[in-house]
Amino acid sequence: FLHRQACVDFALGALTSRAQYSRINPQAMRHEELSEDEIGPLVDDAVVWANQHGLVVALKDPNFVNPELAVVHAPLSLTPVPYPRARFQLAQQVMPLFNQLVDAVAADEPYLESTLRPAAAHDAFTGRLLGTLAATRDARATLRAARREVVLGIHRSDYMLDEPSGKFLQVELNTIASSFGCLSALMTRLHNYMASRMTSLEPGRLPANPALEHIPDAIATAADSTGLRQEGGVVVMVVQPGERNAYDQQWIQLGLWERHRLRTVRMTLAEIAATAKLDPATATVTLKGGAPVCVFYFRAGYTPTDYPTETEWAARELIERSNAAKCPTVAYQLAGTKKVQQDLAAPGVLERFVPDSRDSGLLREFFAGLWSLDPRDVATDPGVAAAVADAVARPEAYVLKPQREGGGNNLYGEELRAALRAGGEQLSAYILMQRILPPANRSVLVRNGQWSQGETLSELGIYGTFVRHGDAVLLNQQSGHLVRTKTSSSNEGGVAAGFAVLDSPYLV
Ligand code: ADP
Ligand code: MG
Ligand code: MG
Repeated sequence: FLHRQACVDFALGALTSRAQYSRINPQAMRHEELSEDEIGPLVDDAVVWANQHGLVVALKDPNFVNPELAVVHAPLSLTPVPYPRARFQLAQQVMPLFNQLVDAVAADEPYLESTLRPAAAHDAFTGRLLGTLAATRDARATLRAARREVVLGIHRSDYMLDEPSGKFLQVELNTIASSFGCLSALMTRLHNYMASRMTSLEPGRLPANPALEHIPDAIATAADSTGLRQEGGVVVMVVQPGERNAYDQQWIQLGLWERHRLRTVRMTLAEIAATAKLDPATATVTLKGGAPVCVFYFRAGYTPTDYPTETEWAARELIERSNAAKCPTVAYQLAGTKKVQQDLAAPGVLERFVPDSRDSGLLREFFAGLWSLDPRDVATDPGVAAAVADAVARPEAYVLKPQREGGGNNLYGEELRAALRAGGEQLSAYILMQRILPPANRSVLVRNGQWSQGETLSELGIYGTFVRHGDAVLLNQQSGHLVRTKTSSSNEGGVAAGFAVLDSPYLV
């Protein structure tokens, strides 16, 4: 299944396959054009390198006896995408501030309640998370008083370079199941290898990507803080049944073992509900066989379909009550909602959580235009009303977002216009956002061993890791990056969803 077959980009339809390849800005570096004859062998090399180094996803081919164990290289871009160095470095620098912001917002539960209540009235999932926050409040206060509160943040702040302003504008801040960190670090290594093969690429322009080390190290720091490791404590990775991106996750498991001798158990929420026991006196959760859990690390639980029955919610609540470190807590998950993102952008709100005006000014450099669609705000705030009117007139300049994660949920164009025209209370569960307009590149996209080239857009993610034990912040840093590249014609770019490929930044 890895034989090479040049094909015209399916997603771009009529776009002709061009012999000339000119992705990298010619002013910024020695430019080299690749002919189709040159691309083919480079693609073969990239695919072999990816397979040799575990830059892979599950193949999920039902013809294999065990489809979970058959792998194929991750969807990838042959060469990196140019980004302005100063802006990229600024995005790295502010990541600890975003980590702190999440921690401060999550700590203000009355703020989460009041900001999310109108959205929750029309979004049962958000409502259920708020309910879990309230139901566990006393248990969490007890843990805090006993100095057993350990919080672990593994975030990814996503940006697109906005061509009109020249700034990276934040698409969203993920506080739960921020994925692809490990495969992305391998992607950086792959592009380093490609740079060694192509005179047009300078390896020094590929920034270091420490996600493969930082993510397991953050989990281990949290595990150590719980005091449960001496008793044989393990990490539980909360996973979805049938995950295709399990290899990204397994890199974290391998890092936990090789770097920290920490064992990871992969469990679904249903399995946790069925087998894990919470000791009411100590709040320690033990698994069948007796091992205590020091960290619950979620790579599931971010979407309503992860909770098909009450059983899964019971597991979530058990985790929230436990003395294990949680990545994330319910409060962290709520702090990462689109509604909170929008509310923080309103005048004066961010500043309540980030008192230093230099810091808040720096964070605001990354904020796109964001507006509430709560009918009360539209009625009372002339700025909001003007934005809604403009979005009806020019829907292509906006994105309409519900309180969802995982891609494929936003509304664009005519659908956006129709939703705004229809109006109503249910729009409280949505936010309106300025459409970010990234520059187009040309890329060679490789999936399933086949390549295609076309016009593409890219999204940058910066990882942040954070550990707090009581009042002591033990870790707060920038922890690597991800670039996802999608064909220009698609609105959303999920790698797992099959729209995008993994890529990496090239600083110019
Ligand atoms: P999710 O949590 O589902 O990933 P996102 O906010 O990241 O939600 O939206 C999904 C995708 O939609 C993004 O990866 C991006 O491709 C596109 N998108 C979201 N917001 C914008 C925006 N303001 N401008 C342009 N594209 C956007
Ligand atoms: Mg998200
Ligand atoms: Mg996203």
